Amino acid sequence: MPSSDEVLLPFEEARERVLRLVSPLPGEWVPLEQAVGRAIAEDVFAARTLPPWENSAMDGFAVRAADASEVPRRLRVVETIFAGQMPQKAIAPGECSRIMTGAPLPAGADAVVMQEKTRSLPQSGEVEILDRPTPGTNVRARGEDAREGERLLAKGTALGVPEAALLWAQGMTHVSVPRKPIVALFSTGDELCRPDEPPNGRIVDSNSLALALAVERAGGIPRRLGIARDTLEEVSGKLARAQGADVVLIGAGASVGERDFARQALQQIGVRIDFWRVAMRPGKPLAVGTLGSSTYFALPGNPTSTLVSFELFVRPAIRKLLGHPDASPVRVPGRAAETLRKKPGLTHFVRVVGVWKDGALWAHPLSSQTSGVIRSASLATHLLVFPSDRTELPSGEAVELLPLSWVG
Ligand code: AMP
Ligand code: MG
Repeated sequence: MPSSDEVLLPFEEARERVLRLVSPLPGEWVPLEQAVGRAIAEDVFAARTLPPWENSAMDGFAVRAADASEVPRRLRVVETIFAGQMPQKAIAPGECSRIMTGAPLPAGADAVVMQEKTRSLPQSGEVEILDRPTPGTNVRARGEDAREGERLLAKGTALGVPEAALLWAQGMTHVSVPRKPIVALFSTGDELCRPDEPPNGRIVDSNSLALALAVERAGGIPRRLGIARDTLEEVSGKLARAQGADVVLIGAGASVGERDFARQALQQIGVRIDFWRVAMRPGKPLAVGTLGSSTYFALPGNPTSTLVSFELFVRPAIRKLLGHPDASPVRVPGRAAETLRKKPGLTHFVRVVGVWKDGALWAHPLSSQTSGVIRSASLATHLLVFPSDRTELPSGEAVELLPLSWVG
């Protein structure tokens, strides 16, 4: 019988459990510029009909299509309408107006003939239409972008660049989105120092920087609390300072080493550990728990394991806090560029470089897959998912790839 300590949670279940622990944060009104990357907290309804009038999709001539049912046909040019001007004259039979892209269509006109399909006759005040339009040709309908009162964006829609532009076009400068999660983070380890300290046999705490930057990219607000020595008191002291954060990340100390105090310290302050240890590589010694509305992650300390765990668990959690209904990572189909082998039991996340060739994304594993060095994360563009039950992925096999958010 394996002891309960040896029970590893399957990766997919671990991720589902993390996502179940978090829900979108309360909404706040923020300028659109600050809202991109979050999801909309409330339905947004159009205040304006856009475009407000039928307008021209081309530089050309606004005509009555019936006038040019046979071409070539000469029409009298009654005015020129630039974008930003309202037409002054209606188009009577035998007439047309020169019109620029985006300018409102004059009354009477129902089509625009592009300039390239006309011949100008400057002396006569006429133009010769060479191409036969039908009603609606090169005319943009009123309300094509939005109709006043209609639902423009549904709650939960990711606010990307076009969505921000859509709201801005409505004269809306602010939007309600979940507030950004505060993510407190610290590292633990007697071997760690700051980059401005003489190392004296220690190594620089690179995880704090890596996690803070990853948090920021994911849309959270990092709060760096520095380094805790490997004592229960110091780890508990940092946890006390982290109180009130939406998410707390402890870099390292979640393993079974004699001085791995992360879980003990978490339990001491009353964190309910939801699970510990996941059947994956890298990133096995992960502990996740909650206290009140805060979610705690004790991450593995190996630099690459830290980043992979962030990508697979913390980033999805942050995205859910930011209101995204589907917070699971993007997956793309690819092909293994080399045969890969492993023992069954753990899901492996192989750092690969994706290269597009012959209609497929070929995943080339980085030569170093050891999680102890940062190098094995650098240069990777994707994680290749090597399923837990598989022992071999032959070269050319269809594989699932996760694009990495940390790529420069
Ligand atoms: P641990 O999880 O504490 O057993 O640490 C595993 C490995 O990761 C050890 O080799 C540590 O030195 C290294 N490590 C832990 N924390 C950090 C950190 N903050 N920055 C860089 N390396 C770290
Ligand atoms: Mg340690």
